[in-house]
Amino acid sequence: MAAKTNGYYDDLVESYLFAEVARRASKYEAEHPDVKMIRMGIGDVTRPLPPVVTEAMKDASDEMGRAETFRGYGPYEGYDFLREAVQRYYKGFGVDMELSAIFISDGAKSDLGNFLDIFAQDNTVLVPDPVYPVYVDTNIMAGRRILYAMSSEENGFLPMPEDIVSEEGKAEIPDIIYLCSPNNPTGAVYTREQLKTWIDYANANGSIILFDAAYECFVTGDLPHSIFEVEGARTCAVEFCSFSKKAGFTGTRCGYTVIPEDLVRDGKKIRDLWLRRQSTKYNGVPYIVQRGAEAVFTEEGEKQIAWNIDYYKENAKIIADTLDRLGIYYTGGKNSPYIWLRCPDITKCADYDEVIAGTPSAADPDAPLSWKFFDYLLQKAAVVGTPGAGFGTSGEAFLRLTAFSTKENTQEAMERLTKMLGTE
Ligand SMILES: *Cc1c(COP(=O)(O)O)cnc(C)c1O
Repeated sequence: MAAKTNGYYDDLVESYLFAEVARRASKYEAEHPDVKMIRMGIGDVTRPLPPVVTEAMKDASDEMGRAETFRGYGPYEGYDFLREAVQRYYKGFGVDMELSAIFISDGAKSDLGNFLDIFAQDNTVLVPDPVYPVYVDTNIMAGRRILYAMSSEENGFLPMPEDIVSEEGKAEIPDIIYLCSPNNPTGAVYTREQLKTWIDYANANGSIILFDAAYECFVTGDLPHSIFEVEGARTCAVEFCSFSKKAGFTGTRCGYTVIPEDLVRDGKKIRDLWLRRQSTKYNGVPYIVQRGAEAVFTEEGEKQIAWNIDYYKENAKIIADTLDRLGIYYTGGKNSPYIWLRCPDITKCADYDEVIAGTPSAADPDAPLSWKFFDYLLQKAAVVGTPGAGFGTSGEAFLRLTAFSTKENTQEAMERLTKMLGTE
């Protein structure tokens, strides 16, 4: 007998979206060497690590090079200096979280995927549509059944339990529920009342909410940063957060996952199962990186990251103001680095056929509007977005723009969009 591979990998759909966007953008660039193309599709940050972070990492690196201060394997849950800093950060939202609930990780993506290890294979999963592709693919790999909660302009791209699509009209209750707020790709943010509805639903049915708070640092005003700000979450939710978007750690790798002691299923504490899993398969985030992450929570660190976050927010505002002027519907942009806009029907433009000549949209008249708009925007304005159709069925006719570009490029891209749509 030969080794057998996991057959569920055959069920994965080739990650077409970002590869296809990159392919079409490169082709445009090669064909138009004199035109400055502006990438508004990037999902990576561009501002460098704040100086407090790099200084802390240099000091930690020196410590590791001296026998008296050298450290080997660290605690599986992360060092207390960082866990305590996270605990204080939660206090700032009015959340009293026990230290034992806080686990340091190498980022939200790995924890979101690895967390599934502790759930049975026959659990049913609910994923909002459109969505960050990681939730879907990690469950396909495990052969789990996936239900979707559809979103649209009607629910402001914030699906609620009544938006769950059930087969043959029978009500189905998911065991695991993913929520992402502020959302990637839509930038939409749940209110406390909306989260309370999900929490009541999960508590009533014994479901667990996996709450992705990767963009919480973009939240302002009275909107919740953490699901634990809302009553009842301690018995039904796990929260995943990351230093990636907050402090430029996309390449440095650090995050945290919060699992309250009160979260119990089958008579077992979920945090105990997670510790068991981590201590078996994981040896923790480098000491040097944890010292860097700790520095993010210092007074100086908070000042420095606020500067970066404000920079991205200013870009988001430039985009949002432009769309307001153009009368285009969008979500996000205020408490998120993402703007999710409804594609104007450019197929009615007199020059549509001429502009898209030679693109895949020209060859395929039945292509989704979001790809047609993508091609038109690229050919006419040399601006690259991300077609919404790639994030799920509900994403059709939408386009995602990100605020992670430079201010100058964001401004120029919006001038080009305005000119393209012929209102100036
Ligand atoms: C970027 C991102 C993450 C976090 O990624 P890291 O692995 O921490 O870098 C998690 N969730 C969403 C929705 C994201 O966009």
